[in-house]
Amino acid sequence: MQNSKVDLSEQVAELIDLMDNAQFVTSLTGAGISVDSDIPDMEMMDDVFGLFEESTLESQPKKFYKAFHKDFIDPIFKTGPNLTHKVMASLEKEGLLKGIVTTNVDYLHELAGAPNVADIWSTLNVNHCLDCGRIYDINILRNDVPRCPVCNGLISPDPVFRHIATLPDQRKMADDWMAESDLTIVTGSNGYYSHTSNQAIVNINPKLNSFDRGAKLVIRATSNEVFQELARQMNLKV
Ligand SMILES: [Zn+2]
Repeated sequence: MQNSKVDLSEQVAELIDLMDNAQFVTSLTGAGISVDSDIPDMEMMDDVFGLFEESTLESQPKKFYKAFHKDFIDPIFKTGPNLTHKVMASLEKEGLLKGIVTTNVDYLHELAGAPNVADIWSTLNVNHCLDCGRIYDINILRNDVPRCPVCNGLISPDPVFRHIATLPDQRKMADDWMAESDLTIVTGSNGYYSHTSNQAIVNINPKLNSFDRGAKLVIRATSNEVFQELARQMNLKV
């Protein structure tokens, strides 16, 4: 019988070896990495987002924001970035990771201090006033029912209703990084973004997904298990 702990440590050593030999390492992350920050997986997010039309936000703002706080805003502010977000931020600061492309809208990579993040589905750091159009950062969402400090209009979180003014820039940045990358570490992704080119892929996911096929290395573990081991082996301060 295989000892899975030894196995993980060997696989992480192989990942580090691949990183050492790559010129332009990128990371592609999805909902799986935020599960340890108490944010439900993307399917759950779809359930919540799918429940609401923008007209519901306008007609029942209390109802909308109550559900939205419970599932997304409270975990972001109370639990915050987890070990994976922190290790990735540290790798970026060390120059070992050139950029993080994420489909997550929770802004946890930035809150962990990562300098280079392409938020291809926008983030909760972009929120519009429905009346005057002013944009506010994530802190406006700390209010129970956030309203515009200037005109008292209701605040609508960008990623929920897809205003997404910033999206084309973020997409281009993501595509440029992926074109240049010779190694992409895919972590907790559901495969919604798959614009990788010919680079080597390492797929970290407890479950089988579309990145398994063609991956140079598949690690069947949660992101925190892997990045904890990686930080240990690399002596990274997190
Ligand atoms: Zn306003």
